[in-house]
Amino acid sequence: LTAATKKIAKGHYQVELDVNRSDEIGELAAHFSEMTRGLEQLEEMRQQFVSNVSHEIQSPLSSIKGFAQTLQMKDLTKEQQQRYLNIIVAESNRISQLSKQLLLLASLDNEQVYMEKMKYDLAEQIRQVVFMLEWSWREKDMMIELDLPPIHIYGDPKLLQQVWINLLTNSIKYTHKGGTITISLLADDEYCHVIIQDNGEGIKEQDLPYIFNRFYRGDKARRRDDQNSTGLGLSITKKIIDLHEGNIRVQSTINEGTTFHIYVPYE
Ligand code: ADP
Repeated sequence: LTAATKKIAKGHYQVELDVNRSDEIGELAAHFSEMTRGLEQLEEMRQQFVSNVSHEIQSPLSSIKGFAQTLQMKDLTKEQQQRYLNIIVAESNRISQLSKQLLLLASLDNEQVYMEKMKYDLAEQIRQVVFMLEWSWREKDMMIELDLPPIHIYGDPKLLQQVWINLLTNSIKYTHKGGTITISLLADDEYCHVIIQDNGEGIKEQDLPYIFNRFYRGDKARRRDDQNSTGLGLSITKKIIDLHEGNIRVQSTINEGTTFHIYVPYE
């Protein structure tokens, strides 16, 4: 056990303990092995995370570099110049969005995350978010149906606002032109229950277990190389709901639509 502890302190997690005892030392050895496996997984996740971040930053940066170099060539028409500049602006926005989301995730990961909880009307907040995003759903000729009776909850309004923005933005993004989104609020026994339903493209059954993972993006988001898609939105959403000791579930059928159920305790 002493030798194994030293190895782990140096960052080597592949330690095998050959202890077959049923006394306290045996129990300690079993817990020790469990802890080692946990640390190893954590290390793997950390490395994966760093490599994802690097990749996500690298691709918009190479595109900015490429188009900036093209712009240095003198024989370009005004239209071509404008087109390349627009791409540079869009890619810079993407990096900026990514770094904002990463900072938010880092602050949420902090064990002592400081929540500023207060009692407020959730219905009013959701209505404001719908209003805030009006330009994007109007642009796609979408209909938003609201069933929002006033319900007061005790939570961090800034963080929860991020949840509704992420979920509604996704519904708008992954629903075709002219689609419909319905947002309802129900007062269950212990939880306030928010339902966000769209009749968009839906999520493949095999993708469902992964959509809350960091950097996970569905096929289309990846293929489209969507400027606004980082694969972080839902992981931030879930983290905020977890911090409120709530729950989030998803139901989806491909080509029919997706429904998110969010449960937030009143207190
Ligand atoms: P992204 O930045 O790609 O939207 P998210 O974490 O918000 O990242 O979502 C992860 C993936 O889940 C998306 O890439 C998309 O494939 C899928 N998804 C999320 N919300 C919806 C929805 N309302 N309809 C269909 N697919 C969705």
